[in-house]
Amino acid sequence: MIVEETTVVVVGAGQAGIAASAHLSDFGVAHVVLERGRVAEQWRTGRWDSLVANGPAWHDRFPGLEFDDLGPDQFASKERVASYFEAYAEKIAAPVRCGVEVLCVTRRTGVDGFVVETSTGTIHARFVIAATGPFHHPVVPTLVPERAPVQQIHSHTYRNPSQLAPGGVIVVGAGSSGVQIADELRRAGREVYLSVGPHDRPPRSYRGRDFCWWLGVLGLWDAETPPEGASHVTIAVSGARGGHTVDFRELSAAGIGLVGMTASYDQGVLRFEDDLADNISQGDANYTALLDAADAYVERTGIDLPPEPQARDLGPDPEALRNPRRELDLAASGVSTIIWATGFRQDFGWLDAEADALDAAGRPVHRRGVGAAPGIYFLGLPWLSRRGSSFIWGVWHDARHVVDHLVTQLGYLEYQAPTDLAEGTIR
Ligand SMILES: Cc1cc2nc3c(=O)[nH]c(=O)nc-3n(C[C@H](O)[C@H](O)[C@H](O)COP(=O)(O)OP(=O)(O)OC[C@H]3O[C@@H](n4cnc5c(N)ncnc54)[C@H](O)[C@@H]3O)c2cc1C
Repeated sequence: MIVEETTVVVVGAGQAGIAASAHLSDFGVAHVVLERGRVAEQWRTGRWDSLVANGPAWHDRFPGLEFDDLGPDQFASKERVASYFEAYAEKIAAPVRCGVEVLCVTRRTGVDGFVVETSTGTIHARFVIAATGPFHHPVVPTLVPERAPVQQIHSHTYRNPSQLAPGGVIVVGAGSSGVQIADELRRAGREVYLSVGPHDRPPRSYRGRDFCWWLGVLGLWDAETPPEGASHVTIAVSGARGGHTVDFRELSAAGIGLVGMTASYDQGVLRFEDDLADNISQGDANYTALLDAADAYVERTGIDLPPEPQARDLGPDPEALRNPRRELDLAASGVSTIIWATGFRQDFGWLDAEADALDAAGRPVHRRGVGAAPGIYFLGLPWLSRRGSSFIWGVWHDARHVVDHLVTQLGYLEYQAPTDLAEGTIR
């Protein structure tokens, strides 16, 4: 059997894998990037048709390559994001092999490094960088039985309104995916309900600057851990239709039926927690806190940005907030589809054979991407080093740190003492 040798195997050619490759090439480290699909496959086929980047083109990109066909404040379509990463991979001549799946990684015995079993053969590598993304398997709560008389899909498989059975839809989950899908379906003339849990909802822009800019200057992208108790709080932002603040009062005024967290299902009836008003009010508090922090920044720095007092006018609470619906009889309300916009879980099963790489729950054990298992690195995970880690611009900086650590280790491994050089002669 012919076994290929290289220094680093990068698993996955999304933005994380391409960033890793760029930094490895800068250091002249031999590597291959193995991708089971195509470059940026998740952006191509793992998202709904109308998705655009949540951050503007000036922000959601790597250094050294701009979106030359977009204005800085425009939002790239998902196809454009994919072609951007393809262009980036070409620009840096990334050694990507598409259509190659990594099946298993095991540590070699008696020799430093790993055996990487792939769908096209075996590779020996000294280091492995897992850049397989943050979102592997859709999570669907086990509330509604599969045999229930309602179509159920996850946001991961939602593409466009025409894919759904005729009738109304309830979208469960009000992060960026849930609110954008609910909005699209309502605009397509569907009857829509939206089940809203705890969320952050920053203003799209304030005083003429996008929230990505505000998070940057306020140091919030660099937060190293989620705020206390907020690790599961989703963020509701949208670049759709030129970008806008996610405003639940506006969604309600547009005819979307807001309800609290989905709690149970029994004989065709969904029941909701009595938490809608609380969830909306916490989202409002998050929104207002950013305005406050932005105003304080303007005050402190004297930067000339136009005041925007109207941003604080949240408008009256709709009936759905004052008197929230607690249950929904799906058939009686004409609801034919449930879309679960309820997130994803990770699966690093292909690393299973590597002791210490994963904890008992199968989660990566690492510090800022440097694995507890020597020689293993991770990229692209939420909060890997900070809030920005799973986003396009953030993974670039994490990749630099990870590759810097890897290159330092490589230096130790390749160090040759004068005695080694002198063929065993002790001087
Ligand atoms: C709906 C949605 C919208 C988003 N919008 C934005 C946005 O606007 N801006 C932003 O910055 N971030 C956004 N994100 C977050 C994040 O940027 C994306 O999830 C991004 O795709 C993550 O990049 P990645 O390289 O870490 O992982 P992925 O893009 O998931 O890439 C991992 C790659 O690894 C490959 N792979 C997996 N397992 C194996 C294996 N065993 N062998 C070989 N290959 C393998 C996969 O095929 C995949 O191509 C969004 C996420 C979602 C879900």
